[in-house]
Amino acid sequence: MEIDKYNIVIIGGGPGGYTAGIRAAMKGARVAVVEADKLGGVCLNRGCIPSKALIASAEQYKRMKAASSFGINLSSPPVYDWLAMRARKDKIVDGLVGGISQLFKSHGVDHHFGFGKITGQNEVTVVDENRGTKALKTDNIIIGTGSRSASIPGIAVDGQRILTSDHLLELDQLPKSILIIGAGVIGCEWACMLSLLDVEVTVVEMLERALPFEDATTSKLFERELKKMKIKLHTGTKVESITPGPEGVSATLSGGGKVEANQMLVAVGRAFNTEEIGLEEVGVKLNKNGSIKTDAGMRTNIDNIYAIGDVRGDILLAYTATHDGMVAVENALGGNLKRNYLGVPSVIFTHPEVASVGLSEAKAAEKHELAIGKFPLRALGKAHAENEISGEVKVIGDKKTDKLLGVHIVGVHATEVIHTAALAVNRGLTVTQLGSLIFGHPVISESLMEAAHDVHGSAVHLAKKK
Ligand code: NAD
Repeated sequence: MEIDKYNIVIIGGGPGGYTAGIRAAMKGARVAVVEADKLGGVCLNRGCIPSKALIASAEQYKRMKAASSFGINLSSPPVYDWLAMRARKDKIVDGLVGGISQLFKSHGVDHHFGFGKITGQNEVTVVDENRGTKALKTDNIIIGTGSRSASIPGIAVDGQRILTSDHLLELDQLPKSILIIGAGVIGCEWACMLSLLDVEVTVVEMLERALPFEDATTSKLFERELKKMKIKLHTGTKVESITPGPEGVSATLSGGGKVEANQMLVAVGRAFNTEEIGLEEVGVKLNKNGSIKTDAGMRTNIDNIYAIGDVRGDILLAYTATHDGMVAVENALGGNLKRNYLGVPSVIFTHPEVASVGLSEAKAAEKHELAIGKFPLRALGKAHAENEISGEVKVIGDKKTDKLLGVHIVGVHATEVIHTAALAVNRGLTVTQLGSLIFGHPVISESLMEAAHDVHGSAVHLAKKK
């Protein structure tokens, strides 16, 4: 058996693991990343990037259908080609995956292809059917094995009629109708994208509102948008049973209703990839929900073993995984960093987009007396220029101290606009400080400035309040 010796071996080449590998190499460590699939993980291969590539196609189609409102006459209505959209998505993903390999070469990160298993406190064994088995000796191990779609008991995903988002990305043709279980981030992003592509969409959510982890006002505004798009939403509802139906699937809902659809998407959260990687053998402790327990420095209960990203079950986001990876590398190399999630934005690529940072109104009200400002996009010149006037920005401040507590946006470019607010929350700015920046004009971000002014009743583009 071949033996290699490293300072750090990282199991998992997703946005947590691959970036940690590069950072470790930059810091002079001898580092290996063990990955059994393509580099880039879920984010690059089956999540963030491919879905955003398809959403861009769907939005382009929507804009072309509305061409006449921009003064453009098309000689015939636009027609989309799903397979061409899929091919475009694949090309983007392949290019970026290749980019990671290039970065590894340039920084001197070893990529070991295969399934990584911890076979000792200082050993990771890489198993690959074709290349055989190899043991990597290492001072430190970072686990970044990520997560996969969770399932619902009694509803078996078959990849034909009952799908996860992984299957949707690879469909040969889109269904005429789809039933989506779960109005969380994945459910709502796919609901909007498929609806833009003329698929009939029904969404079932067991909690009382769509995007239940966002601010309640956001859910209300967003649900209005779903209605405009003719997406049917059943909240406070579960799917009781699924049977084959004339359309494909027939679902009985907890309220007694029935939904017929060609296919069904299960988007009810994620399960952690902790199986078969040797955790029990070395005694790595888990949380109650099955994720790996770490401290704020990403250390597990075993001295030289760290865990980062989704598998920690904290925040399941590509970008916090990357942050975790940086912290773990620093600490593995003798540092003492703690994660800092203050001001991590939530960015949701629905139609319109949704984004937030800081506390929701309900959470903020538990500890603060609030001052709230709002600004609707329809009062903004740039929103009219873009023909995207739906939505609103809400700024929440502390009435006494003026500290900025949270910002919640529904509207075009929300996922970009939020970053100004994220910096403000991260740096502990006041609402006045956020509003005192001279924003460019005309930009959608002005809505943030106006909403900050509205906290103090001084937004000049709003009518006088009675
Ligand atoms: P989620 O936790 O966001 O939403 C799952 C939803 O399913 C919840 O609203 C939940 O109440 C509902 N649900 C659960 N069981 C149900 C049942 N039996 N019937 C009806 N509804 C049920 O999870 P997700 O949408 O699967 O996304 C997974 C993770 O990936 C999330 O943590 C998310 O943050 C992340 N993600 C992020 C982005 C982004 O940042 N843009 C995009 C996609 C995914």
